Amino acid sequence: MKAIQKVLDQIHDAEVVALTRDLVRIPSVYRPADPDANESRVAAFIEAWFRREGFTVEIQLAAPGRPNVLAWLGDATDGPTLLLEGHTDVVTEGDPADWSHPPFAADLADGRIYGRGAADMKGGLAAAMIAAAAFRRAGIPLRGRLVVGALADEEGAMLGVCHLCRSPIGRQLQAAIICEPEQNELCLEQRGVVWARVRIRGRMAHGAMPEAGTNPIPPIGTLLREVPPLQRRLRQGAERSRYLQPPTVTPTVLKAPLQGVPQANVIPAASELILDIRLTPGIGDDAVGREIESLCRRVEVAHPGIKAEWEPLGALRLPTKVAREEPLVRALGFAVKKVTGKAPRYGGVPGSTDGTILHTELGIPIVTCGPGNRLIPHQVDEHVEVRELTDAARIYAVAAFKFLEGPERA
Ligand SMILES: [Zn+2]
Repeated sequence: MKAIQKVLDQIHDAEVVALTRDLVRIPSVYRPADPDANESRVAAFIEAWFRREGFTVEIQLAAPGRPNVLAWLGDATDGPTLLLEGHTDVVTEGDPADWSHPPFAADLADGRIYGRGAADMKGGLAAAMIAAAAFRRAGIPLRGRLVVGALADEEGAMLGVCHLCRSPIGRQLQAAIICEPEQNELCLEQRGVVWARVRIRGRMAHGAMPEAGTNPIPPIGTLLREVPPLQRRLRQGAERSRYLQPPTVTPTVLKAPLQGVPQANVIPAASELILDIRLTPGIGDDAVGREIESLCRRVEVAHPGIKAEWEPLGALRLPTKVAREEPLVRALGFAVKKVTGKAPRYGGVPGSTDGTILHTELGIPIVTCGPGNRLIPHQVDEHVEVRELTDAARIYAVAAFKFLEGPERA
């Protein structure tokens, strides 16, 4: 274990803290109306940092102004390729007056770094960057390849990770650690999500003569009554999970009319309901599709003359699960024990992450593990505990070492 100690000797708490603060101070909220409000500045900073550290760097443009930065050490012909994954975009800070520390000042107070993105997830990204750089600084060669991915657009359509999955370096990935804030727990499962947009088409008419049209609004009532039984059926089809809440079906968007100005005396031509459907392992996307399809047919039967159709919004995000016996999970478990002196805690992620897409598209094992309270993302006064942050950098380094050295040297 001399080699791993040499790597750990290259990880300094003050540097992990300083790098996190540097990243938080570069705002990267994506605002479509503003050409300067995107991930490009923070990505340029990360690119320059990796080039200084002697990494091979590849920039992938997922969309205009929205680059992925991929940086790696080692050679894929020597062994497996492991990704340490983070995203560079952050959600809106809201009203800065609601914050007790300015959202992009990266104040250091009470053993915490405050700011938008401190936990979700510039802290995790900084920890991954320092962990990878420590191998090069220590002069410890890797058996295989260690890639750090700083990806764009996780908080939106996940364009960054979708782009990565289609690229040559993406297709070579064999496992990934998703550095999202999970209090350094090893999250082995993630809930999936399907956003189902159901559209009901009727026929426009005067409100005083409803018999002349077909009103698309009453069928929405029927749809809403079908939500609790749909949720029950999905729960019956799901595996019981130790770490995740059971599936949920939640109506989130309701619209009518879909075009033009709403008018009190006009029956609209169409209406729309979006269902946010959260899935746990054991339910396939085909099963969900069949359920919503039959929902649409029942609504049509109950309301003659209307047409009900649905489509999923965005990429499919299926639930993910890895077994405790996976080499990646064992490597991380070993790392947590070595770094913290305590047994690892296992958990699950209630939402989806870039890891969801990596697992769905590439079929590789993913574990979500990173610094920061899991409830803090997207809140005011977002922060990351310095202790968790510096632990995370060491956990990533030890886990990468263990995973890449392979079973024959373990
Ligand atoms: Zn995140």
